[in-house]
Amino acid sequence: MFKAKNFKVVHVAVFMFVLFFTFASYALAYNNYDIHSCKWASPGTIKYKFISTTPTDYKTIFATAVVRFNAEGTNANMSLDYGGTTPNTFGIYSEDSNTMGTTSYTCTLIFGSTINSSDSGLNNLYFYNTPNRKDELQIKVALHELGHFQALGHSSVTPAVMQSGILYYQYPQTDEVSGLNSVYP
Ligand SMILES: [Zn+2]
Repeated sequence: MFKAKNFKVVHVAVFMFVLFFTFASYALAYNNYDIHSCKWASPGTIKYKFISTTPTDYKTIFATAVVRFNAEGTNANMSLDYGGTTPNTFGIYSEDSNTMGTTSYTCTLIFGSTINSSDSGLNNLYFYNTPNRKDELQIKVALHELGHFQALGHSSVTPAVMQSGILYYQYPQTDEVSGLNSVYP
């Protein structure tokens, strides 16, 4: 028997000004470096549900990011769990900070690291205080967080959604596709 070890990893998207360099890592997305190699055992059927307080516009943002990742045709595929039994959640939180989003995991360390559950959230308070280009920015943050949700780490490649603290892209880039293809061959 192997003893399972659980740990939690938290990723946050921080706007670039001050904190970017402290959060920057220099791993390519497909090195899967800074999530401690956690990955889904069944990447083709990664389920999520919304936490009950998630407003409709945020559900649309998350769903849009899901569709854009799924459209890349990798072996990772996310879908809504209509039964609501999955532990994995998307939703919002409110924090008075320049953190725009966060993704956490619990992983089990047995023969590699299997993700048990993961949660992604967008900081509603940040976006409330940042009305300009809000939808566009939310999509960018949601894409970044769902990259983490699927097991990608940060990337030093340009262009990449998974660059830490840099949010330029509204669609997955080649680097994200390469990363997912590497993690889930
Ligand atoms: Zn990140």
